[in-house]
Amino acid sequence: MNVFNCNGERLWSSLMDMAQVGATEKGGNCRLALSSEDKAGRELFMSWCKEAGMSLAFDAIGNLFARLPGADDSLPPVVMGSHLDTQPKGGRFDGIYGVLSGLEVVRCLAEQGLKNKRPIEIAVWTNEEGARFTPAMFGSAVFTGTLPLQTALDARDADGISVAQALDSTAHVGELPFNRPFDAYFEAHIEQGPILEDNGLPVGVVTGGQAICWLDINVTGMSAHAGTTPMDLRRDAFFGVADMAARLESLADDFAPKGLVTIGQVNIAKSSRNTIAGQVSFTVDLRHHDDAQIALMEQQVRARFKHVAQTRGLTLTINRHWLSPATPFDADCVGAVRRAVEALGYPHQDIVSGAGHDAILLARHCPTTLIFIPCIGGLSHNEAEDVIPEDARKGCDVLLNAVIERLQR
Ligand SMILES: [Zn+2]
Repeated sequence: MNVFNCNGERLWSSLMDMAQVGATEKGGNCRLALSSEDKAGRELFMSWCKEAGMSLAFDAIGNLFARLPGADDSLPPVVMGSHLDTQPKGGRFDGIYGVLSGLEVVRCLAEQGLKNKRPIEIAVWTNEEGARFTPAMFGSAVFTGTLPLQTALDARDADGISVAQALDSTAHVGELPFNRPFDAYFEAHIEQGPILEDNGLPVGVVTGGQAICWLDINVTGMSAHAGTTPMDLRRDAFFGVADMAARLESLADDFAPKGLVTIGQVNIAKSSRNTIAGQVSFTVDLRHHDDAQIALMEQQVRARFKHVAQTRGLTLTINRHWLSPATPFDADCVGAVRRAVEALGYPHQDIVSGAGHDAILLARHCPTTLIFIPCIGGLSHNEAEDVIPEDARKGCDVLLNAVIERLQR
């Protein structure tokens, strides 16, 4: 297999140039979706795309597509991309790395005289972060039809400005149709977790996204005086919840290392320091790579919590708030990434995406995969987010070779 290499220095200097747009004091970035900074970042990217011979177009939710025509331009494009918007105190790489790696691939193709039969596009999805407008990943959600356009346009930020108004002010809208066919979608991204760094590996071959199950739990006991009620006559909702929490943590051992359990919110109703908690509500977040295993985890949570409630005389309700099935990526696309990383001779491992990405939604639309590179300390959604330039180069090399393989099909 012929191996191609990107220009790591050029990629890095583009990343650093983009980081000047909406730079924060502590070395991060603030380019909230559809803000003037986001618009400026996109316009810098657009100027680079024009220099690379690409045309530019938008759809009605502001997703931006830069396109390099193919010899047979009627074929569906091979698409790379990610997002340029950031958290309010975000980093320089989350999303940006995938967009600028796509640009580096296009620059390399021209430089190395490689002709593409299929068109190539770089997608910049609107409002991936969900920091200004919720939900997250909404540009790709509208594109793939999982979020109605009107619902997205009506969403408002904390100042009451709607997405429709913000789109008007950026003028980054157009008429490209949603859901148009893609040959494949490749997204390079920082891992946003510690696994690759911990294992000393520059590249993760992402095989899919994990399943997520969110439960809302309500436990009712009896409020009573903290000083006059003997311990054996109490129905303390909080200690019941503490018991459930301990059993939930031990459940994770039974599903280790892929099962993850989290209690992120706990609320004691009408809490007071000298009153026994009568009612406590809390949330449970369950994650696993496998749909059958997450179903089993949910079943076990329900059984264990029910047992605690019964032995402590508490009333329990458990409602499933959300279930998002596991997203296996396309075997051909994952294979192209694996062949690329092996031909390049870079150490790597298979990994499942712990976070949501545009690629998770695109996977329901076309053959899709993600490529991960490590970030220092696993840190992301933080101004200190950082990557090693060598890792950035290697991840982009993998993207380049995987896309070249796909273009030859
Ligand atoms: Zn991202």
